[in-house]
Amino acid sequence: MAAGDEGTDPELGFAYAHTGIAISPESGRRLACDADITPMLLGRNSVPLNVASTERLLPAHLRKALIARDKGCARCGRPPRWCRGHHVTHWADGGDTCLENCVLLCDACHRLIHHSDWEERITDGIVEFIPPAYRDPERRTIRGINQLAA
Ligand SMILES: [Zn+2]
Ligand SMILES: [Zn+2]
Repeated sequence: MAAGDEGTDPELGFAYAHTGIAISPESGRRLACDADITPMLLGRNSVPLNVASTERLLPAHLRKALIARDKGCARCGRPPRWCRGHHVTHWADGGDTCLENCVLLCDACHRLIHHSDWEERITDGIVEFIPPAYRDPERRTIRGINQLAA
């Protein structure tokens, strides 16, 4: 297993939604990103390795601030009603639920960001996306779609 590949370690099991349905660790992190669920990382024999102690729903005032800044999905521009808050540094990794660490993404872009090598960052209030190497070998940053004119 390569460093940084924890989420895909074949020895790790599945995250379980509260319905008891097994989902991949990546999906667990995506669903927990802006949701009232408690992800649990399971090892072999379903022994819990890590249980996140807190949930991080986006508070209303933060959602309003994200809408003001991102105006919709920061990556594709879908309107805010299609979007949820994504934590750039996942809260399970210590990322704060704040304007500097959250970005508005539609479900499709949210899925892409969590399940691929796309990266994102927020610098001085500007959201930038870094494409995976297969898409751009130089991995040049792309500014958030609604921030091009900023
Ligand atoms: Zn989008
Ligand atoms: Zn997310």
